[in-house]
Amino acid sequence: MSNVLTFTDKGIYCPAGDFYIDPWGRVERALITHGHSDHARWGMGSYLATKAAAPVMQHRLGDVSIDTVNYAETVQIGDARVSFHPAGHVPGSAQIRVEVAGEVWVASGDYKTTNDGFSEPFEPVRCHAFITESTFGLPIFKWQPQQVVADQINTWWTANRAEGKASILGAYALGKAQRLMSCVDASIGPILTHASIENTNDILRAQGLHLPDTVRVTAETGLKKYPSALVICPPSAFGPWSKKFGPQSQAFASGWMALRGVKRRRAAERGFIISDHADWTELNSAIAETGAERIFVTHGYTSVFTKWLRDQGYDAHVVSTDYGGDEADDSDAPQQDTQDAGAAV
Ligand SMILES: [Zn+2]
Ligand SMILES: [Zn+2]
Repeated sequence: MSNVLTFTDKGIYCPAGDFYIDPWGRVERALITHGHSDHARWGMGSYLATKAAAPVMQHRLGDVSIDTVNYAETVQIGDARVSFHPAGHVPGSAQIRVEVAGEVWVASGDYKTTNDGFSEPFEPVRCHAFITESTFGLPIFKWQPQQVVADQINTWWTANRAEGKASILGAYALGKAQRLMSCVDASIGPILTHASIENTNDILRAQGLHLPDTVRVTAETGLKKYPSALVICPPSAFGPWSKKFGPQSQAFASGWMALRGVKRRRAAERGFIISDHADWTELNSAIAETGAERIFVTHGYTSVFTKWLRDQGYDAHVVSTDYGGDEADDSDAPQQDTQDAGAAV
């Protein structure tokens, strides 16, 4: 079998099309799965992404030119036929399908198969080789239905309101924050947002996504007007920024909240377990649905998950990349480097 995609020190490379997917080194031609900072980086000669992913990328990368495609639209690049398919991770996120001489490979970036009611739902793509993340590639990671987590947040928010406290909820600026504000019960009280989140909200609203009403927190925001607010901010805003809301309860929303040690280290009173990455069951079902025999495992629990896949009969391999895993979305992952996540907000 030929290698449609290869793994280089700059990123995932397609020799037949002379392009890279989510490169971390500077390259001439970059195809980007989604706007998180570990996948969409500065300094590429050209960018290609979905129409839905491009506005946030443009905001984050500044003065670069981004070519766009619709989902499922095929483009010919050199000898490669390329198309983007929903990854269900955040709005605009894509798996990139690359076909060369009848051989099909899919690079999935970050993904989840659960429909969050907000991102374009994940679509399985049949292929010979599948490149998968493994951020939560251990059986201990098993997500509850989104509505269960929304109810937990609503209960927490309602109790805080009864005690005269603000509810400070830490979530990453692109994806998680909007997913949370979309699934909580906005009739409980006003939803306030940190500027980095509201900037992303503005972009997503402008491209037609529906979000509940939110109030941008600025120096002029009269906080006394919003005593029972849910305040959504990046985890980095905990501390001096969140203090100004007075009596408060703090919580984080992240898949990592499933790990007790991480929750303790963040010193949040509450941890809501919700992630935009596939859990154990989703990873396994997504891989099975591709029909692929060759699996390449990128960021996450790579070696454990690869061994598991081999035991299941797959031709599975660990691939070393510079992708961050959930901390690029949440800034609160253990063990991994978080500086790119900070740079993106
Ligand atoms: Zn991501
Ligand atoms: Zn990522």
